[in-house]
Amino acid sequence: MSDCCAPNANGTKSYALPNAAADDCCAVAPAQTHPTSQTTCPVCGVKGKSVDTQTVKAMLDVSLRTLQAGVYRFCRAESCQVVYFGDRGDVYTEDDLRERVHQKHPNAADVFVCYCFRHTPGSIQRELLFSGTSTVVAQVNDGIQAGQCACEIRNPQGSCCLGNITTTVKRVQKSLVLVAA
Ligand SMILES: [Zn+2]
Repeated sequence: MSDCCAPNANGTKSYALPNAAADDCCAVAPAQTHPTSQTTCPVCGVKGKSVDTQTVKAMLDVSLRTLQAGVYRFCRAESCQVVYFGDRGDVYTEDDLRERVHQKHPNAADVFVCYCFRHTPGSIQRELLFSGTSTVVAQVNDGIQAGQCACEIRNPQGSCCLGNITTTVKRVQKSLVLVAA
């Protein structure tokens, strides 16, 4: 078994310039320290959902951060500051983004749940208090039917918000007091 890292027979190692050693088995490539199979957030360990590079690009405040080439995932953990992490070890927090992220503040009245049609927990609560019912899911469905959705560039999670809206409507409903049947 030959080992390129083993000392030569005379007891000395051989050296080469870094460029010349690019294919050397001893060179540590970034891909080896951060394998493309990195599926969990490097900070909180929660499994991330893969997200299109276009979403990360659209969300990033490019005056602050430059996007590295690579494959990105979305960390949905509320307690974790990381929003995106790449397979090369780079992480982006909410401070690097143009939008505040629903998953990081699911109860904040003014953070969008639906980024395309701009619904928030606050607007959902106002409608429930005013009319006793929520039309948000129907409104969003109509918007989707009409082809007005662009979740991949508007929503930090890069996918449709309907599941989050359904959860939020239920949660807001629960938080209110039923005053009349
Ligand atoms: Zn995380």
